[in-house]
Amino acid sequence: MDCLFCKMVAGDIKPDVVHEDDQVLVFRDIAPQAPVHVLLIPKKHVTNLDDAEPGDAALLGHILLTAQKVARDLGVAKDGFRLVTNCNRNGGQTVYHLHFHLLAGRHMTWPPG
Ligand code: 5GP
Ligand code: ZN
Repeated sequence: MDCLFCKMVAGDIKPDVVHEDDQVLVFRDIAPQAPVHVLLIPKKHVTNLDDAEPGDAALLGHILLTAQKVARDLGVAKDGFRLVTNCNRNGGQTVYHLHFHLLAGRHMTWPPG
């Protein structure tokens, strides 16, 4: 499959990794939108949240707890952070491998653009 994030999981493309385990890879976004901007992805290819299935429940929960850990490790948990997943065209998704943006290091505004 011609998927950018699967190539990172395979090691063909080497992002700036901040955390990795058997299920997830976390790396810095190439075009950061905040002082801290990392992407959390499952190593398994899931296209987006609309593609996730009931059998992915544990994986999705693990990604959320990994976001908590990474936010703490990067020292941004107490000040606060935002976790975002963009799904399909209206969600603004550009890379079609499920990922969660963890943004921190500045005050986030609402509503998002
Ligand atoms: P989306 O727009 O799908 O929600 O998010 C895709 C994200 O992937 C964007 O924030 C974009 O900057 C990031 N991205 C795209 N290509 C690369 C790359 O080659 N390396 C890294 N580290 N991030 C990328
Ligand atoms: Zn993929």
